[in-house]
Amino acid sequence: MSKTVEILAVGTELLLGEIVNTDAAAVAAELARLGYASYRQTVVGDNPDRIREAVREALRRSDVLITTGGLGPTCDDVTKDAVAEFFGVPLEEDPVVRADIESRLGGRGVRVTENNFRQALVPRGAVVFRNSRGTAPGLALRGESGEAAGKTAILLPGPPSELEPMLYEQVSPYLAGLSGEAIVSLNLHLYGIWESTAEDILRPLMETGVNPTVAPYACENGVRIRITARGADEAECRRMCRETAEAVRSTEAGKYIFAETEGAGAADQVTPYVSRLLRERGLTLGTAESCTAGMIASRVADLPGSSDILLGGIVSYANGVKTGVLGVDPAVIEKYGAVSEQCAAQMAEGARRVLGCDVAVSVTGIAGPGGGTAEKPVGTVCFGISDKNGTETKTVRFGERSGRDKIRRRTVAEALMYVAQRIADRTDG
Ligand code: ATP
Ligand code: MG
Repeated sequence: MSKTVEILAVGTELLLGEIVNTDAAAVAAELARLGYASYRQTVVGDNPDRIREAVREALRRSDVLITTGGLGPTCDDVTKDAVAEFFGVPLEEDPVVRADIESRLGGRGVRVTENNFRQALVPRGAVVFRNSRGTAPGLALRGESGEAAGKTAILLPGPPSELEPMLYEQVSPYLAGLSGEAIVSLNLHLYGIWESTAEDILRPLMETGVNPTVAPYACENGVRIRITARGADEAECRRMCRETAEAVRSTEAGKYIFAETEGAGAADQVTPYVSRLLRERGLTLGTAESCTAGMIASRVADLPGSSDILLGGIVSYANGVKTGVLGVDPAVIEKYGAVSEQCAAQMAEGARRVLGCDVAVSVTGIAGPGGGTAEKPVGTVCFGISDKNGTETKTVRFGERSGRDKIRRRTVAEALMYVAQRIADRTDG
């Protein structure tokens, strides 16, 4: 019989409706994928008595309890104490976790205080899931005796950016191990296709796919299709994932795949892809950015060693910079507006000239809120790209509802992908 699992989310912010319980949703979806039966979810505030009570109740009812949040360094983070108490084990400092915290906080110049090291306290015998994005590690504890015998508690940090990679990379394999199986995920990264379209094309695979499962996710940088296989061992799982990946590649959606990763794979794959293409062809990049104000160049520079491909970028937010620095003809702005393909074209050409790069990409758009018109609503972004073969432009409407942040982030991904497509199309190296 399969093990039963409960989710307990800890956080007063959840009870107040200030944040949505996306952690529980992420964990629940993962449990469903793994074939675990999950019948209950609970939310409690940062209140020691109620947390203790909720932990007890859940562990009495179910085989596995997964908690989210309440692992931070502040004193109201009591989940760990409550769980250790139920399992009847003391908290002890874990030297590896302590070193992680020291290097993480110390590296950022944060003064490390004693309460930071509360996070290095681990219930005796617990498995530690190291946290690559924050200081609170995840923990898993199995009970050996008393009322905790045969029970498992898994404690995860609250911030979704920390919880999600930990969940996919470390907790899933751990859970699979609990049921005596191995689990492996393979991600296919797609660009230029809607999630709904991908889902439509892949529906037959998704419906028949109990193992491996196939699931598309919309992400900022396109669509990710996650294939997850369960099996006797990892080699077996990998083989199953490969077969399914080939099946996906042979569908209509296959031509949009640009990268493949194993594991969580939610991270941006667009930038590494573009960078690799530029490097392979020995090309340099420059940018002329209006509404993204340098974000495209910054994204490329996030990758170490980008100095051989990124020459620079010009933040041409004001029209005066578009004309004065990039040499956009004022008459073009007058006639077509700053958000126009004509302006984007001249921005890209100007950037290429001024920066001396092989490929220049430009963006000019309306990120909002406000400033849109019927003809050019908020979310309208014009792109230009210029290289020795000429200049091309396009307009994308990201939709007003996306909001300013998302419009700007999607503009970055779109611009980078525009560069990638342009380079991939070049046959002259
Ligand atoms: P920290 O080390 O940041 O204190 P923590 O593990 O103690 O982490 P909490 O303090 O409970 O976690 O939450 C930190 C933040 O994580 C919250 O402010 C919220 O933004 C996010 N968060 C917490 N729980 C959830 C949840 N269930 N769903 C979505 N986001 C959450
Ligand atoms: Mg906290």
